[in-house]
Amino acid sequence: MGPAKDVMIGIDMGGTSLRALVVNPQNEILAVEKAPTNVAQKPDGLIRDLAALVEDVVRAAGLRKSQLRAVSIGAPGAVDPEHGVVYHAPNLGWDAVPLGAKLGKLLRVPVFAENDVNVGVVGEHALGAGRGAQELVGIFVGTGIGGGIISKGQLYLGARGAAAEVGHMIVKVDGPLCGCGNHGCIEALASRTAMERDVRAAIRAGQRSSVLKLMAERDKERMTSSIIQRALKKNDPVMRNVMKRAQYYLGILVANVVNMLDPECVVIGGGIAERLGEYYVAPVRKTAYENFLRRHDAEVPVHRAQLYGARTARVVSPAHRRHRNDREPDHARGHVRAVASDQ
Ligand SMILES: [Zn+2]
Repeated sequence: MGPAKDVMIGIDMGGTSLRALVVNPQNEILAVEKAPTNVAQKPDGLIRDLAALVEDVVRAAGLRKSQLRAVSIGAPGAVDPEHGVVYHAPNLGWDAVPLGAKLGKLLRVPVFAENDVNVGVVGEHALGAGRGAQELVGIFVGTGIGGGIISKGQLYLGARGAAAEVGHMIVKVDGPLCGCGNHGCIEALASRTAMERDVRAAIRAGQRSSVLKLMAERDKERMTSSIIQRALKKNDPVMRNVMKRAQYYLGILVANVVNMLDPECVVIGGGIAERLGEYYVAPVRKTAYENFLRRHDAEVPVHRAQLYGARTARVVSPAHRRHRNDREPDHARGHVRAVASDQ
């Protein structure tokens, strides 16, 4: 048994699954556990599931709960990190849930919550593809599209904490309706949800595609990243076209972001980038480079995220957490990210 209170737990709360991992102070992963996200239950039920998952992963690491320093959660939605309150998480059906306080009470360990994309971007900055950069932008593509900005080495929050909502940048004014009520947001053009909509529309219009068959075979109701990968491997023409269009618009987004913020680099993450890697990112990068205002800005690298999957997730070093509140005890400044592929 190691010394007390030196391990941390990182949890990624996805709409489909909860992933937790244990890390030691050397950022080594000691154990990883996963559980389904049962969103049908009330928030208290899901918080109990999280507590059980923490117990499981601590046990899997051969440790005791008394050795935990803190638990850090990336939650999908608007989160007040000061108080660990999840204000708006439509995927979970949550509004104003004091996640940190409730889970902390069950576990008797400090629990910190932050928006999942912010945590992901901080992670890439600290230990991933954006290591060493002072200015970077992260864009995560999944069910929706989220982003985060690191400026002067810190997470940039904006005046109200709502900065970097890149998913709702409008890149096609007469484009499809977005969940936010506007038209032509990048999320309505390039998210996995948008791609699924376009694939289904093409099939309805009579185009041949194996996507629905693949979904049925794999018993998937949604076009997950693994379905996309399988369809592309089969050279499915509908999937290829839809993917190409999504990559084009994402490239336009990257160009807009770079033209506006002049970052040192851009990191593209999320389930699709994780699955498809360079196949996915290369065309995005090409379109971005073609649309950079200053042509030599092709020197702004567009990387794919590195902290893929719980297997390779790492602790975000305490020094990189936003120092918003200096009274915050030292142990509060750790952030851990178990980056989930949303399969
Ligand atoms: Zn929108």
